[in-house]
Parts: sequence; structure tokens; C-alpha cells
Amino acid sequence: MIPITVVDVRDAEPLVAEVLRSGAIAQGPMVRRLETAFAEVAGTRHAVAVNNGTTALIGALRVLDLRPGDEVITSPFTFVATLNAILQAGATVRFADISADDFAIDPDKVVAATGPRTKVLMPVHLYGQPADMGKLAPLAAEHGLHVVEDAAQAVGATFEGRQAGSYGLGCFSLYATKNVTTAEGGVITCDDDELADRLRVLRNQGMRTRYQYEMAGNNYRMTDLHAAVGIPQLEKLEALTTARRHNAQRLSAGLAGTPGLRLPAVLPGREHVWHQYTVLVGPHAMLSRDELAEQLTARGIGNGVYYPKVVFDYDCYREHPQIPDASPSNVPVATAVAAEALSLPVHPALSEADLDTVIETVRDLLGA
Ligand SMILES: *Cc1c(COP(=O)(O)O)cnc(C)c1O
Repeated sequence: MIPITVVDVRDAEPLVAEVLRSGAIAQGPMVRRLETAFAEVAGTRHAVAVNNGTTALIGALRVLDLRPGDEVITSPFTFVATLNAILQAGATVRFADISADDFAIDPDKVVAATGPRTKVLMPVHLYGQPADMGKLAPLAAEHGLHVVEDAAQAVGATFEGRQAGSYGLGCFSLYATKNVTTAEGGVITCDDDELADRLRVLRNQGMRTRYQYEMAGNNYRMTDLHAAVGIPQLEKLEALTTARRHNAQRLSAGLAGTPGLRLPAVLPGREHVWHQYTVLVGPHAMLSRDELAEQLTARGIGNGVYYPKVVFDYDCYREHPQIPDASPSNVPVATAVAAEALSLPVHPALSEADLDTVIETVRDLLGA
């Protein structure tokens, strides 16, 4: 079996053992160390570690002081945490359709979705490729919108040399299967001293000094045990990302010309970090997306459908008061892509032989 992800954190043992021996296992010096390393990777003044990627998104929205009825524009093609975070922060969600070229929010659709109550633009850098920040960042500035990036899958990715997560408030996930992991964890990056300070107070029950509450906070703290797991990966992130890039190039070279298959593109000026390698199985392919997925699994090739439907197309969101427009027909590109997207293994633990097996099996199943 060639799995879709492999989690390898063996080299964290010494640091984790150090934390265990110290007896101080909650938020402390290891978290600060992770934050320093993360800020360096993200190219930002600040990195605030939290307990997961969802609370990173919630915290980022909460320090922007949104009022009920304020709107956040985001992508309909994302993991559900993006949507749940906006709902939890009390804002109203507006969806702008995606582009099938980068699977991220389409700047033209953002313009159409912007109204008088719009306060935040929240692009999702899906699969590890940055959204079109060259257009989205000026657009946000023009309309006076805060930028909150869902960079959960995009640690290390760049747009014209600028890091994903450095355009406003950058939200990262350090969940087990992400490119950098602490098992569960998250980070918010930014250059703004005041927002970073508010985030630190917010994550600690609103306390700067013990029992002096400055705001209604929460417990979003990361533990030193978790931080110790992530630090070695940040140190070797470049090598890990290079391995992902190599694997993606091998897959694209090997799968080129497969009938009915659309391969992922790296758009000009963007550095992709290949959290996922995602193809579109089009209507003219010999097998449907779901058939191909099933056959691959049967032949021992791990694969994943990220994500099977647009994020709001579930009963629990249909009449939701914070989702005024939950109609998939308004986001036709995302709806079509969700029916065709299939991710293949691209992780750093793949051998050259594994890559050959993935390529040969896909080509064989699709009659190439
Ligand atoms: C993983 C992920 C999140 C949430 O992160 P958790 O750490 O699982 O809470 C948010 N958005 C996207 C796009 C993700 O992939």
C-alpha cells in the first residue's frame, strides 16, 4: 500500500523528551521557540501559536472586532474549518467562486461579492498553492478589507517571493497530516504589533497578567509538548518541500497526456508547496472520479477526495442565518471541481519506485 500521507516525526524524540523531563509541559519556552522559527519561515514580525488551525482562524477574526452582520468573503471549495471559524466569530459568510486553475478564490468573483458590510477577505491557499494575491491584496486594500489568509495547507508557499500568510493575518494548521505538524496545532502570523499582542492575550483567557482580564478570551494555548514535535520539521522544511516538489514534477511528467485527466498547474510567480497533488478527472476520462478512486484503492494506491462537495452544501448549513446564500448553483466552478478532484500521494516519504507505481497504475486505469 502506498499511503496518501505519511507522518514522520521520529526526529522530535530528543526535544519531546527534554520537555517531559522538565516537568513544564504546557505553554512555555518550547512554544516561544516554535513561534520564532515559524515567524522566520513565514517572513513576518510575529507568529502566535495556538492549539489548532481552526482556532487560528477564529482568533484572527475575533481580534478584528467584527459585529453581527459584518461579512467575510471566502472560498466555497475548502475544508469546513474555514466556514465554521467564520460562523463561530459571529460574522456572515459570502462565497466567491473559485478558478479551476488554482482552486482558489477568483478575484473577479470577489469584486461581485463585495458589499457595504464586507469587512474581511479570506482566501484559502488550497493544496499548497497561494491564491492570486497579486490581485486579491490590492482589491482588499481598495475596499478597506482586512486580509485573513487560510494558509493551513501552504506553509512556505510564496506569491512573487512573498510568503503565504504575510499579507494580513495568516492562519496555519499544524494538524498531523499538514506539511508541518505538532499533532494538533496552529499558528497566526502577522506584522501588526497590536494585533499580535491582542492575539496573545485572547489565547490566554484575556489575561496579560494573571487574573487581570482585558477581554473575553479563551484557551487557545499550544503546549510545549506539541511545540517540541514541530520544531525539527521547521528546521528541515526546505528539504521536505523540495522533496514534495520533486514528486509533483515526477507525477506531472509521468501523467502528461493521460486521456481525460487535467493535471495541477503551478501558475506564474507562485511557489507551490504541494500539500496535495490534485488532478481533475474530467467527463471524457475512461473512469469517473469515484470509480478511479475505488480502483486505485483496490490496487494499493492511497488517494483522497478533498473535498467532495462545496463546503456549505450540507443540511446543517442550508437555512443558516449567517449564510444568506447557500446555493451551489451560484458557485458553478467550485461545484464542478468538487465532482472531479482527486488527490494522489505526493508526500516526502515516497520512493522513486512508489512514484512509478502511482503513475503506471493511473495510466493503466485510464487507458493511456
Ligand atoms: C486543516 C485545515 C484547517 C483547520 O485546521 P485544524 O488544525 O484541523 O483545525 C483549516 N483550513 C484548511 C484549508 C485546512 O486544510
